[in-house]
This record gives sequence, C-alpha cells and structure tokens, in this order.
Amino acid sequence: AKSLQRGTLHFFDKGLNERLDARKKAERELRAALATNQFELLYQPQISLPGGAITGVEVLIRWRHPIRGLVDPDEFISLAEETGLIVPIGEWVLRTACSQAAKWNDLTLAVNVSPVQFRKGHIAATVREALEESGFPPDRLELEITEGILIADTETTLNTLNEIRKLGVRIVMDDFGTGYSSLGYLRKFPFDKLKLDKSFVRDLGQNPDADAIAHTIIDLARTLKITSNAEGVESQTQLDWLVQQGCGEAQGYWFARPLTYSDVDQFVAAFKPG
Ligand code: C2E
Ligand code: CA
Ligand code: CA
Ligand code: CA
Repeated sequence: AKSLQRGTLHFFDKGLNERLDARKKAERELRAALATNQFELLYQPQISLPGGAITGVEVLIRWRHPIRGLVDPDEFISLAEETGLIVPIGEWVLRTACSQAAKWNDLTLAVNVSPVQFRKGHIAATVREALEESGFPPDRLELEITEGILIADTETTLNTLNEIRKLGVRIVMDDFGTGYSSLGYLRKFPFDKLKLDKSFVRDLGQNPDADAIAHTIIDLARTLKITSNAEGVESQTQLDWLVQQGCGEAQGYWFARPLTYSDVDQFVAAFKPG
C-alpha cells in the first residue's frame, strides 16, 4: 500500500508539473505572439433595423499561430487574462482597430474590453491615446464590456465608465442576460446599448424562455431609451422576429461573417439594404 501510495503521489506530481509546463509554454507563445505581430483583426458588420443599413463593425481578434494556424479568441483570451497579457493585447487591439477603422467614414467601431483590462489597464487613458494617435472620432467608438465588470468595486468602475464617456465614447453591455444581470446595474451604470447574447437569439421561435428573455431585453432597452443589438443572427426567421419586436440592430452570419480589413470595403459597397 505504501509503494502504491508513493506511486500515486509521484504520478500526480508529474501530471501537475506537466500541466504547469504546458501552461508556461502557452504563456511564452502568447507573449511571443504579441512581440512578433501574430494577432490579426476581423470586423463583423452591424446592421440597423428595420432598414438594414450597415452602421458599424465589431472588431474580433484572431491569432495566426505559426503551427496551429488561425486560433479563435475562446482558446487564448482566458490565458491572456490570467497572465495579465490581455492588457497589452487589448491595447494593441484598440490602437490597431482605431487606426484601421479611421478610413471607414460613418461606421462605428465596437471593441471588446476584458474585465481584467478594464480593471488593471488604465483603460480610459489607453482609449484616449488610441483616439489621439489614430484621429478616430470618439463618437464613433463603442466599448463592449460584460456584466462581470460590475461585480467588484462599484465606485471605481463607475468612475472609469464616466471617464470614458466624457471622451465621447459609448459603452455597450455585451452578452446581456448571461451573467449576473441585475436591473439595478442598468440604472446605476451609464450604458448606451444592450447586446442580446447569441444564445438567446439561437433559440428564438423554438424556446419560449428565449423568446421571453429577448422580448424583455429589447423592451428594457426601449424603456431606458438606449439601443438594442442582437448578435448571432443566422436566419430570416430570427431576423423577422427581432424586427417585429423593434430590436435596434443585428449582426450575425445571416448578414456577414467576421471579415478581413480589406473585405469590409467590398461588403459595404455590395450590401443592399432591404
Ligand atoms: P463576443 O464579443 O460575444 O463576440 C461574438 C462572437 O460570435 C464572435 O466569436 C463572432 O465571430 C461570433 N459570431 C458572430 N456571428 C455569429 C453567428 O451568426 N453565429 C454564431 N454562432 N456566432 C457568431 P469570436 O470572434 O470567436 O469571439 C469570441 C469571443 O472572444 C467574443 O465574444 C469576445 O468575448 C472575445 N473576443 C474577441 N475579440 C476580442 C478582443 O479583441 N478582446 C477581448 N478582450 N475579447 C475578444
Ligand atoms: Ca462583443
Ligand atoms: Ca456574445
Ligand atoms: Ca462573449
């Protein structure tokens, strides 16, 4: 029994070490990715409803890994958050997206901001600098934040949000309805738009709960006199439902997948409102 126990312990230690090594390696790779410009930006069009004009784009990061190829953010954002690398990565996204999007007249630019970047990254100063160096108009920039941001230190969060809004930049509540949503938050914090999470949009017309939640969120935005956006729209049926409910804007594969920088121009030129 003794040796078995020791063996088990040994095995466990080895497993743990291996996991730590793998993690360190992943962290090194992520750091190198930043240093050697392996990140790329895609832009997904946002369509106003019911008319159907393109009003903006949401920028979405990708990692062009030398061996693994194109890696989605779900595979590296949490590591970036745990290691703090999300702060310089997020800064790179803001600066690059602002300077690229400056050439698209009239399109708004929505940038995702991680709660970690929000708390640790001097986010208001970063945003101001990105705007200054790119010449991007503040009133065309939106920051998408998630409910997770609101849990800790209400006072600081509120100050930061107000500081950002003073620049003329709008604040969007992303993935609304999936986290610790509370109506109290919405009254306390100055949001300009609510984004209905794609998990609800996916189930529209098939699940009464999804319908009810979507309906409530669109209504809530209307009551607060702010915009509602439905993400992950993949079908005409979903779109019709959203238009009928008075949703303010939509994005999703039904209109366009996330596009490369140069494909955005073509899409804008070819897009027919309707
Ligand atoms: P998100 O902010 O909720 O972004 C929407 C995600 O849905 C994107 O995934 C987008 O490609 C995908 N999507 C768009 N239309 C459809 C559709 O019709 N159907 C379906 N099933 N999916 C659709 P993506 O690009 O893989 O990004 C995943 C998440 O990674 C984002 O979720 C966001 O939370 C995070 N992320 C992406 N870029 C950044 C970034 O620059 N900084 C930070 N902090 N997070 C980012
Ligand atoms: Ca988003
Ligand atoms: Ca979402
Ligand atoms: Ca998300």
